[in-house]
Amino acid sequence: MIKINQLKKSFNDLEVLKDINFEVKRGEVLSIIGPSGSGKSTLLRCLNFLETPNAGTIAIDDVTVDVANYKKQDIQQLRKKSAMVFQNYNLFKNKTALQNVTELLIVTKNIPKAEANKIGMEYLAQVGLAEKANNYPATLSGGQQQRVSIARALALKPSVILFDEPTSSLDPELVSEVLQVIRQIAVKDTTMIIVTHEMDFAREVSDNVIFMADGYIVEEGHPSELFGNPKHARTKSFIQQLS
Ligand code: ADP
Ligand code: MG
Repeated sequence: MIKINQLKKSFNDLEVLKDINFEVKRGEVLSIIGPSGSGKSTLLRCLNFLETPNAGTIAIDDVTVDVANYKKQDIQQLRKKSAMVFQNYNLFKNKTALQNVTELLIVTKNIPKAEANKIGMEYLAQVGLAEKANNYPATLSGGQQQRVSIARALALKPSVILFDEPTSSLDPELVSEVLQVIRQIAVKDTTMIIVTHEMDFAREVSDNVIFMADGYIVEEGHPSELFGNPKHARTKSFIQQLS
């Protein structure tokens, strides 16, 4: 369902993504691991053109964007295919939890407010926050804020949800509630790409894992293989260092 071919991205002289190729099937969970600065966030941001790649093709569902030759409408179509969950939640501070979830439904999907509220409440309930619907982000814990941002992503019903280190900003005691929500989504056949440092979680939840370093995919495989029997020395030392 997702096919990335020969994707490249540089910032001036710095080549961050050198030749990235991978596929994700519908309903699968792909985890991306790798050292800080290896280009993981840049890769996710290229998939929805938050960053404009320099070369390659990105195909999600029925939308294919060739970086060398595309129209503005293609990018609009591509962006509708994914929703991103950021490390720092990126909630609107002046909107309630429910308003955060419904905002894009009302503004970009033109869903009437009453209907959007109904959808929003369903997704807040799914992440265990129905009773916090009228709370502003400042009155929620980091874990609760991240769960609101996951509800917001789910409510858009995207083809794929992109998670960029969803638990890295959280105090340790709040990590598990967020991982638990992501686990529940994973078993519902949601297609997801997750950048994470939570190795046990990645091992448990993923259908496939990619280890990135220096702008390349060094190794890709089933989690039992990649974690249990890594083929490359770089993968091995990275995993050892984190566990
Ligand atoms: P990761 O998420 O794996 O830690 P990033 O994708 O954030 O890595 O960054 C990869 C490299 O690209 C780093 O060297 C980073 O400094 C650089 N980089 C990321 N974003 C920008 C930007 N907007 N401008 C210039 N350099 C950037
Ligand atoms: Mg990053």
